[in-house]
Amino acid sequence: MRILLTNDDGIHAPGLELLEAVASKLSDDVWVCAPAEEQSGAGHSLTLQHPVRLREHGHQRFSVTGTPTDAVNLALRKLFPDKRPDLVISGINAGENLADDITYSGTISAAMEGALAGIPAIALSQVQMVAGRIGGSVFDAAEGWAEKVLRVLVDAPMAKRSLINVNFPGLAADKVKGVRVVRQGFHDYDRGSLVEGTDPRGRPYFWFGLEEMEHTLDHGTDLEAVADGYVAVTPLQLDLTNHAAIGTLSERFVA
Ligand code: MN
Repeated sequence: MRILLTNDDGIHAPGLELLEAVASKLSDDVWVCAPAEEQSGAGHSLTLQHPVRLREHGHQRFSVTGTPTDAVNLALRKLFPDKRPDLVISGINAGENLADDITYSGTISAAMEGALAGIPAIALSQVQMVAGRIGGSVFDAAEGWAEKVLRVLVDAPMAKRSLINVNFPGLAADKVKGVRVVRQGFHDYDRGSLVEGTDPRGRPYFWFGLEEMEHTLDHGTDLEAVADGYVAVTPLQLDLTNHAAIGTLSERFVA
């Protein structure tokens, strides 16, 4: 099984190092192609305004001077002339990717890029014990649970253009209660903090912060699962169509 690893925290991130260690237990054909620098919050963006560079860091290890989407896209075009990867795994992100945060997430988007290419894809994220803070990131739950979760997911059938979002709760591994397969939740709308200041040349600047956002803990969601101490596993799909609305909206265009 050929596995391509990537992330949005960059090629030097400790979560990627952990993922490499876990993936090497599942396969002896593990490749890494990750952004050269941190790209958290990059979403599914593709670099179009300037060229990107591919840099080799060691045996089957590469970085791309671009976004997570660039890294997967370029890897699939340039690194595998003979045999494409059988699986794309993105992470392990330092910080949660729960609820509607997933649309901002470079970690999820890298997995989406794999799914768009027809390759089964999994995104892994570790909820931090102190919400919003990733300095001195803790990966305890992921260290204890990533391998067993991945072993199940690797054998699970996956529909085309779909991916799996996994979040490990911010707990010591022995405090994690198990795994729940749940739907995506939603935060109550709140964009976190905004820091305002003045730069050294006297111009105002704004800086988005990431604090824990308010949310109503709907039953059966990823937010509830990690709050209850479980690993949250959410199958996602790239068809964003609101199928239920097609009929009612169509009726409005009937002459
Ligand atoms: Mn990140």
